[in-house]
Amino acid sequence: MTITPQPGILDIALYQGGAAHVKGVADVIKLSSNENPFGPSPRASDAFRQAAGNLHVYPSTDHAELRGAIGEVQDLDPDRIICGVGSDEIISFLCYAYAGPGDEVLQTEHGFGMYKISALAAGATPVVAPEKDRHTDVDALLEACTDKTKLVFIANPNNPTGTMISDTEIARLADGLPEGALLVLDGAYAEYVDGYDAGAALVDSRENLFMTRTFSKIYGLGGLRIGWGYGPQDIIDTLNRIRGPFNLSAPALLAAEAAMRDTGYVAKCRRENARMRDWLATGLDKIGVPSDPSFCNFILAHFKDAEEAEACDDHLKSKGLIVRRVASYGLPQCLRITIGDEPACKRVLAAVSEFKRTRT
Ligand SMILES: *Cc1c(COP(=O)(O)O)cnc(C)c1O
Repeated sequence: MTITPQPGILDIALYQGGAAHVKGVADVIKLSSNENPFGPSPRASDAFRQAAGNLHVYPSTDHAELRGAIGEVQDLDPDRIICGVGSDEIISFLCYAYAGPGDEVLQTEHGFGMYKISALAAGATPVVAPEKDRHTDVDALLEACTDKTKLVFIANPNNPTGTMISDTEIARLADGLPEGALLVLDGAYAEYVDGYDAGAALVDSRENLFMTRTFSKIYGLGGLRIGWGYGPQDIIDTLNRIRGPFNLSAPALLAAEAAMRDTGYVAKCRRENARMRDWLATGLDKIGVPSDPSFCNFILAHFKDAEEAEACDDHLKSKGLIVRRVASYGLPQCLRITIGDEPACKRVLAAVSEFKRTRT
């Protein structure tokens, strides 16, 4: 074949999104993609609808209004914010800008799938460091660093494990990295942790630390594709050189701004998530399905083995409950279950209980 893609591209395994349908089952609840069961703030939906009257007008190229709103609400310098088509796009900008052939992009054992995809797309080599009991292991990451390491991605809290490490540990990781390596803190679930700044203060005091965030999770705007990054000015300026000038649509920008400003709605979603997460985790634990303490809007439920996890997944599916198999993340004995609303959580607990009764 004469038309050949760049090295690494054909090594990319296609990203598997959460399933959304079950054949022959009505009343399906999707608990496979960590979406907010309550959707976005009504103010965000209103802003989106209003934008429908202006679809012929090009959107802003500098996202000044949205960056201003983020800066105000999160108490950050808007000049050091960049907005992208989901945080996926920010992750991809980072890889294209800072990693290429011969460079290494480091991540944790059960890290988010997009890090590897973006590293390979940029021609770089993905490297994986082990975790300790499904927690990010700073010593293992530092040990895995070489003089080729350019980027280190960790999600805190992490998907699909739900676990989290302290700011002290993050600081130790950043400060121990080799010269020229950038630590990227993925804060996709940071808003679910009460009082957590997603590592923003650590970013402010270092030159090798960058943070990514998203509107896809607690803000309930996964369908619109908006994310953002915050970091040292020179890195923001670099990423802006490869960002398409019109990467975000006008309706997305307006909806995200309204969502960011509706802090009451976010707080309500955080509280309700914590309430139902604790309820579900406790209920499952009582019937012999433990999970690690989760800081996210999902729990990682542990079964005896892969066979039991798959059988439970099949049973849940037959009841119209779609959760996420995580064998591709190296966790075949687990299922990742998004925290839905109260009726959804009750259906999950009832269905898993029924399944467990058939097994004993
Ligand atoms: C869901 C998720 C994201 C969000 O990606 P978007 O492109 O912003 O939708 C990022 N990182 C992790 C770890 C996630 O689980």
